[in-house]
Amino acid sequence: MGFNNLLNESNDNLVKHRRNLHSIPEIGFEEENTSKYIQNELKKLNIPYKAGYGKTGVVGVIKGGLGEGRSIMIRADIDGLPLTEETQLDFASKNGCMHACGHDGHISILLETAKIIESIKDTFKGEVILCFQPAEEIVQGAMAMINDGLFDDYKPERVIGLHIWNQLESGFIGVNDTVVFASADAFSLEVRGRGGHGALPHLNVDPIVAASQIITNAQTVISREVSPQDPGVLTFGKIESGTASNIIPDKVSIQGTIRAYSPKVREQIFSSLKRISSLSAEAMRTKAQTEIMFGTPPVINESEVAQWVRDQSSKVIDKSLIGQVEPVSVGDDVAEFINRIPGVYFLLGAKIGDGKFPHHNSKFDFDEKAMINGVKVFLSCTMDFLDS
Ligand SMILES: [Zn+2]
Ligand SMILES: [Zn+2]
Repeated sequence: MGFNNLLNESNDNLVKHRRNLHSIPEIGFEEENTSKYIQNELKKLNIPYKAGYGKTGVVGVIKGGLGEGRSIMIRADIDGLPLTEETQLDFASKNGCMHACGHDGHISILLETAKIIESIKDTFKGEVILCFQPAEEIVQGAMAMINDGLFDDYKPERVIGLHIWNQLESGFIGVNDTVVFASADAFSLEVRGRGGHGALPHLNVDPIVAASQIITNAQTVISREVSPQDPGVLTFGKIESGTASNIIPDKVSIQGTIRAYSPKVREQIFSSLKRISSLSAEAMRTKAQTEIMFGTPPVINESEVAQWVRDQSSKVIDKSLIGQVEPVSVGDDVAEFINRIPGVYFLLGAKIGDGKFPHHNSKFDFDEKAMINGVKVFLSCTMDFLDS
């Protein structure tokens, strides 16, 4: 089924929502005005909703007029970033936050999709769950919604979602069979020695030398322990110690990030880092304590569902604009949803100009004309799923 007759006003609606939302960005769990905007739009559409999942999350439900049936959830993340916008756009934000990842587009696409589904609800059975998720950028919103009873209150059998990607050709639908995004976790590492006079190192236990060894030795985790077939990242991003040139400090504090494309490699990096830290520290008479701050697992599609999304996309989008893409080493906590319910997360290309201002850049922007393809794919998948 084509939806073109239903999409006459969609481009205008999408641009209007996107610009409205773009000018009021809010960071994770503080999306009060964004949440209100969404609730207000759902109210106008007569779509019942519940707010308060994960503080600012909103869940709407459209029930088909033909009775009970299957249940599908469409997810959009709603938060912005703590970044001062430098785009010069008319609708640029002025509040020190910025939609520099395209989540304003995600909300707009889901609102427009909801509007169209609501207008044809007499033609299907089952239900469509509209999931507006907060706090994706800090990878906490999905679990916060789940902990607030999202899946106690709603029982979707399938989840779909998309991420706008301004490094891909505008309108492109990138549906991977397996990995889409990497896991994203942080760690902190404390190396304890015994401080004292810098001129009397033999009387002290120097944690700075030990920390240096740990960082150097940890370079072998990716280069010597993880298979060359399996991408992984281990980055030390912050190191703090000391107060003066002639004092050996008591401790060194280190922080870093870990990325992997599979649960196996994620675990391997955790355990290798812990082993190398603690044994390297011991060799230098110090003690190391490593703590992993779990972020989000990798986003891994189910290949059967991915094929289905590509098939449904090809009904509404030119085939030359559908394919698979290189996995990206960023994280997205949509993983918490599709780890529980068979689902797919796909990328929606939205390149603008030469694409030199990527996601999270203060001059980030995307091609608004791409949004309509997100609506089309959501509609095509949703209607097919409820029909089957
Ligand atoms: Zn994002
Ligand atoms: Zn982002």
